[in-house]
Amino acid sequence: MQNLGPCAQIQRPSETVSSKRAISALTKEELIDEIVSLGERSFRADQIRDWLYKKNVQSFEEMANIPKALRTELKKRLLFRTLNLRRSLRSGDGTTKFLFELMDGLLIESVLIPEKDHMTLCISSQVGCAMGCIFCLTGKGGFKRNLTPHEIVDQVLEVKRWAPKRPAITNIVFMGMGEPLLNLEGVIKAVRILIDPEALSFSHRRVTVSTSGIIPGILRLGQGLNVNLAVSLNAPSEDLRSHIMPINKRYPLKELMETLAKYPLQKGRRITFEYVLIRDLNDREEHAQRLAKLVKGIPCKVNLIPLNEVPGSDLRPPEEEDLNTFQKILFEANITAIVRKSKGKDIMAACGQLAGLYGL
Ligand code: SF4
Repeated sequence: MQNLGPCAQIQRPSETVSSKRAISALTKEELIDEIVSLGERSFRADQIRDWLYKKNVQSFEEMANIPKALRTELKKRLLFRTLNLRRSLRSGDGTTKFLFELMDGLLIESVLIPEKDHMTLCISSQVGCAMGCIFCLTGKGGFKRNLTPHEIVDQVLEVKRWAPKRPAITNIVFMGMGEPLLNLEGVIKAVRILIDPEALSFSHRRVTVSTSGIIPGILRLGQGLNVNLAVSLNAPSEDLRSHIMPINKRYPLKELMETLAKYPLQKGRRITFEYVLIRDLNDREEHAQRLAKLVKGIPCKVNLIPLNEVPGSDLRPPEEEDLNTFQKILFEANITAIVRKSKGKDIMAACGQLAGLYGL
């Protein structure tokens, strides 16, 4: 474990909790309205967005080609950055976890994960989570509030500021704290900024929203955002899923799979199913066989994730042999199944672990 020294010295955003809007989550049209209302011309919006998203500056003062009077007015009206980096930890495997304090003092986490030739950034959509999945520390802490669009976008801007330039962050996954589809308006607005070519310009093919199975949210997500969908499945039967993920009582597996079977996927795209394997609970051969039947007919891949143990829990990761057998059964049913070993174990990179330490 390595503590990244300079992060501890980052200053708090100078604003306190405020009803002001934040500049990082304004659409281009909203920013133009703001600028025009100040008597300036609309092309300034392009210049400001370039400073904000491409050059990733830290204050209005750094926007050198913007008239000083406009910068001063914008500063009075809009928030700039809203996250304060409390701590960052880098794992031996290169995974880096960021703990951010929001303006109301609550804490969230983002995790930067090195892949072969790029970086994936895992971001949070809520403070805490109401879903209560039995294997997840975030769920144990309960739900505090939704993140605003700018608190979501600012995670990306802040991490980009601290991350090495190479390899680049190309992939964004909404798999941090919270259930993104219960913060649908916030997530959709943030995603629009993430994939806007004039803003953060991520490919929509490289943005993934992960859900525990909120059916109304899935239906809404399918209406045009065109990002990837991941569904946390974790069990192949109603009773077992309700035990592992209480949300299954509200949105049962049968209805969920019927919804996913009709999900409007673009050519070549697949749904990702996440399956956390827990020893002797959902990792038996019969579970793999039922899972194979359940997902058959849906263009998909299955990510098999050995449980990341959390302190104070009796749940254990699967034996290596059981994990291999599980994967083999899916292979034999012609289902793409990839084992995703947890990264960053030495820095408590599982969702909610670091914030838990700070008393979230
Ligand atoms: S796994 Fe995801 S949906 Fe379940 S409790 Fe944790 S954060 Fe919430």
